[in-house]
Amino acid sequence: MNYGFNSEELAFRDEVREFLADYADLDGFYCQGHRWPEVRSMFSAMAQKNWLALTWPTEFGGLGKGPVHEYILWNEVAYARAARNPLAAGIVAKSIIRYGTAAQRATWLERIRTGDIHFSLCYSEPEAGSDLAGLRLKATLSDDGTCYELNGQKCWQSYAQDMDFLWVLARTGTQDSRGRGLSLFICDKAANGVRVAPLPTLDGDQLNEVFFDGVRVSVEQRIGDENGAWSIIGEALADERHIQFPPGRVRRDLEDLVAWLNDHDLGHDPMVRERMADLAARVLETEMLGRKVLATMVAGGNATVDAAMNKIIHTTVCQDIARAVLDLGGPEALVTGNRPELIWRQSLTETIGGGTSEIMRSVVSRQLLGLGG
Ligand SMILES: Cc1cc2nc3c(=O)[nH]c(=O)nc-3n(C[C@H](O)[C@H](O)[C@H](O)COP(=O)(O)OP(=O)(O)OC[C@H]3O[C@@H](n4cnc5c(N)ncnc54)[C@H](O)[C@@H]3O)c2cc1C
Repeated sequence: MNYGFNSEELAFRDEVREFLADYADLDGFYCQGHRWPEVRSMFSAMAQKNWLALTWPTEFGGLGKGPVHEYILWNEVAYARAARNPLAAGIVAKSIIRYGTAAQRATWLERIRTGDIHFSLCYSEPEAGSDLAGLRLKATLSDDGTCYELNGQKCWQSYAQDMDFLWVLARTGTQDSRGRGLSLFICDKAANGVRVAPLPTLDGDQLNEVFFDGVRVSVEQRIGDENGAWSIIGEALADERHIQFPPGRVRRDLEDLVAWLNDHDLGHDPMVRERMADLAARVLETEMLGRKVLATMVAGGNATVDAAMNKIIHTTVCQDIARAVLDLGGPEALVTGNRPELIWRQSLTETIGGGTSEIMRSVVSRQLLGLGG
């Protein structure tokens, strides 16, 4: 297996690094809510290079590149601590390209490609996270068949406070129909009846609750067939596996925290050296797993199991790096606003968002090991 990049890919990586040099102080990866105007402006600058549409087919205005370029881009952005990859250009746009009508593509793709509009993902609910197929937010078709009315509540929406549109998974079938009774809608966040309420998080940023009270969306804002959302969200997730949990994030955590330990004159302590060396080996492991996910996708394979393993290791390593520096750095590492304690507080949510570690282990045990049928 060859995990290296070819010369064209390396040249692209250099171009990305050069671009990101202007955003070295952006620091939008952890608490994007604190830096949204600046992150948005960086996405607009990326759009000038058409990087938001890097992998979209050229017929839809994209550059037609493959997953390697996309991996390089978002891994470098993570290493630079600039931002997370935007959902609009990824999950939303790729679903519209695959399942949207010609009119929907014309309405949405160009605005996403240019970075003019951004989306929040409205899937989870208070009683439906791991068990997403049990969600209850109801979309009812009007008698004249022109619009749906949305009623219910979503929970834990990242960035919803700053985004322009909501990508909403809603129930159009019976509750018993589970995943076979769900549809996808685009909803303007400014529509009547939408209310976004903050849920403060441990790192000082926020997730959100989003309430829908009689919100009307036209049938043109339903993407894909009625009751056909389950396969759309599955395919969109599969498209993004190589850019979720990029190893650049943990590599940078390790480098920053090693620098912090040296700055505090702790680098000579044998206990510090032993513990950080062990973590360095595990960071390399995340880099190899990240490349394995990518290699599987480039080969056209199913990366579900690789991505689940990557998520378990990546999120555990980022917690362990931060935890080690807190253990080794003494009281100063715990002072609010210091890098170690911010990284630690942020890292705690990583094993939950995007599917919990228990769910990831369940994927590995069933699909790789064949345990439990
Ligand atoms: C930082 C962050 C960002 C998020 N961003 C978004 C977003 O933008 N949009 C969105 O829609 N959602 C988002 N979420 C929600 C996220 O997807 C859910 O929190 C996650 O899927 C877990 O669901 P839950 O919170 O309902 O917990 P539950 O599913 O209720 O799980 C509770 C506990 O039970 C365990 N558990 C549940 N089922 C099983 C099982 N079958 N086997 C073993 N253990 C199980 C879980 O692992 C967990 O420990 C985000 C969450 C976080 C933390």
